[in-house]
Amino acid sequence: MDTEKLMGSLACEVQGVEVLRDEPMSGHTTFKIGGPADLFCIPRDTEALCELLKWTRAEGIPALVIGGGSNLLVRDRGIRGAVISTARLTAMSQREDGEVQAECGVPLARLAAYARDLGLCGLEFAQGIPGSVGGGIYMNAGAYGGEIKNLVTETDAVTPSGELVTVRGEDHRFGYRESCFTCSGAVVLRTRLRLLPGDRAAIAAQMEEYRERRRRMQPLESPSAGSTFKRPTGFYAGKLIEETGLKGLTVGGACVSEKHAGFLINKGGATARDVLELIEEVRSAVLREHGVLLEPEIKVVGEE
Ligand SMILES: Cc1cc2nc3c(=O)[nH]c(=O)nc-3n(C[C@H](O)[C@H](O)[C@H](O)COP(=O)(O)OP(=O)(O)OC[C@H]3O[C@@H](n4cnc5c(N)ncnc54)[C@H](O)[C@@H]3O)c2cc1C
Repeated sequence: MDTEKLMGSLACEVQGVEVLRDEPMSGHTTFKIGGPADLFCIPRDTEALCELLKWTRAEGIPALVIGGGSNLLVRDRGIRGAVISTARLTAMSQREDGEVQAECGVPLARLAAYARDLGLCGLEFAQGIPGSVGGGIYMNAGAYGGEIKNLVTETDAVTPSGELVTVRGEDHRFGYRESCFTCSGAVVLRTRLRLLPGDRAAIAAQMEEYRERRRRMQPLESPSAGSTFKRPTGFYAGKLIEETGLKGLTVGGACVSEKHAGFLINKGGATARDVLELIEEVRSAVLREHGVLLEPEIKVVGEE
């Protein structure tokens, strides 16, 4: 791919997009792992994002939209084509009907704090999830009994063919760590959430309790992508891994956290290959010991 030529064409045809060439993805993922993206694009608003998607389609360039990079493992060879970061799409507001509207790049933690300051409850669970609204909807992010699916009323999105659509209610098809966006390839632009009035101090206290619980239970001091595996029906992945005696198991720089066995962490210098090998070791050992096949929750992307 002639990235220099493509950058020239992009600069001429699409306004309002900053583009970096051969940008290491390790700087854009919470795992701190990942080879270079050919083109790393940062649109300044949703119009520029839509224009950029149109351009990648016309040029036949694969495009991956990312938010906080907190559920991604990017392979060591990096990503061919364009990675589009939503980091600057961070407008949020309260509408006249009381609903809160947020663009896809708003960090979930910032949205939760915004709701708290407005005295609206429902998003307390989200304050410690290091993802964005777009990633949160795509994954149906959830914690401590709360899920984004309980709050979202409507989402504006752009389909792979470039059509602007509004997804409503049940049509989001939210499930465990999935939504209609997981397989459709549509990109979330903004969403609207219905929250309930609550007591600001009580909301703040609940958020603080969750924050403390995370600090106590999760290896937040090490880079990771959160829980590596989905929760198998009737079990907890972390508990199965711990009972199999895998805490501390290491491949290169990747390690099963001693603090929470459901988290694979980057102890320093881990490659994607280390993590992928460790994932396979953990899966085989848990299958042997418990007869349960763990499915990764993290999304593995990039050139094999
Ligand atoms: C320490 C830690 C704790 C965590 N705790 C939790 C938790 O409690 N609960 C939980 O659910 N998750 C948790 N996670 C995982 C992660 O934060 C969530 O999955 C989050 O929703 C991912 O959002 P993101 O913006 O980082 O998405 P990314 O990692 O950037 O992307 C994930 C997927 O979403 C897609 N995507 C991103 N933005 C858009 C968009 N605008 N439109 C369409 N698709 C998009 C990407 O293409 C990719 O396939 C944790 C992660 C870490 C590191």
